[in-house]
Amino acid sequence: MNTLRIAGGQVLRPDATVEDADVLVDRDEGTILDIGADLDADADETLDAEGCLVTPGLVNAHCHVAMTLLRGYADDKPLDAWLREDIWPAEAALTPEDVRAGAELGLVEMIKSGTTAFADMYFHVPEIAAAVDEAGLRARLGHGVVTLGKDDADARADIDESLDVAREFDGAADGRIRTAAMPHSLTTVAEEYLREFVADAHDEGIPVHYHANETTDEVDPIVDERGERPLSYAKDLGMLTADDFLAHGVHVDDAEIDLLAEAGTGVVHCPASNMKLASGMAPVQKLLDSGVTVGLGTDGAASNNDLDMFDEMRDAAMLGKLAADDASAVAAPDVVRMATAGSAAAVDLPGGALEVGGAADLAVVDLDAPHLAPANDLVSHLAYAARGSDVRHTVCDGRVLMRDREVLTLDEDAAMARAREAIASLRERV
Ligand SMILES: [Zn+2]
Repeated sequence: MNTLRIAGGQVLRPDATVEDADVLVDRDEGTILDIGADLDADADETLDAEGCLVTPGLVNAHCHVAMTLLRGYADDKPLDAWLREDIWPAEAALTPEDVRAGAELGLVEMIKSGTTAFADMYFHVPEIAAAVDEAGLRARLGHGVVTLGKDDADARADIDESLDVAREFDGAADGRIRTAAMPHSLTTVAEEYLREFVADAHDEGIPVHYHANETTDEVDPIVDERGERPLSYAKDLGMLTADDFLAHGVHVDDAEIDLLAEAGTGVVHCPASNMKLASGMAPVQKLLDSGVTVGLGTDGAASNNDLDMFDEMRDAAMLGKLAADDASAVAAPDVVRMATAGSAAAVDLPGGALEVGGAADLAVVDLDAPHLAPANDLVSHLAYAARGSDVRHTVCDGRVLMRDREVLTLDEDAAMARAREAIASLRERV
């Protein structure tokens, strides 16, 4: 057996307690063999974790990873104008090579900030899958479908591509890649297509991932036209099952929260994107109190503008308190759970907890920094004070992706250079 030992640190356990312990990993199986004091000193490889906190790898449950290319491309606009005037025209010009460059840059950023798994909706998905395979992360990938403004043939081709991608890449990268069918939203895919698309996906056991209840501009037309709330409509379409998950859920009423809890549909909270696009404040404490599975995501880098899940935890805690008008709402352990076990459950990927027999997906956070001293409460530090740049080592599926802040699976400098070239060329074309 080939083993990896993470030695001399403190370990964050699933019950949010912290203990002095080593972590021993079976690299062949990609699982945790043991967590405890003074484990096997003869391991094949050892990562020094002295003065560090070993946490589950963070799970970014809603992302558009290749949008790193559009970081800072258009800011300070409401969602609809931002999409129509800036983002969609730029995306229409993206080549497969551009998407590969953006994905690699985003994956480097994720590894450097302790993220080991993510769910992603985009296009040119084979390029993203190849980048994920190389980078060593886990992902649930899918091709996003928009039928708005398309003729019937184009709309059906887009849906076929989403289903084909979901079939072809499920289980790729030694099983680290899973897939989903991904209608963009309840308003950008017409009902006639949505109903059939969702049924076809579910018939084959493919889950559905979509954006829902993000802004009032998206909710109001559904209520006006149908006389029902969006998630009641989603339930009628069959896309509110325990396998499905939706991003945002900002404007949900109590009846919709009950629907989510009953169905077991995961909600991915994206606080930075919601604040930046002034979409609104999701009722996260209410969702948690109602038993809804809540994960955390950055959304794309164009509306965030980074993929740092530590930032996202802090934003979630802050915004959750403001939304609830209660400083005790969305507490530190809640956001840490959302970014780890909550996200993993929402998107149904392994990881999210450090436990014997579980996936060896972890991040080692260096506590030796002024902004993390003194160590009064390490869970509080993770939620409120730590940054992605505090991560020293990142491990996914038992493989070391970053050691002592050096990314081992991708070339960081080359990824940045390729992204710069891609955006320079894109700006000339658009
Ligand atoms: Zn999104």
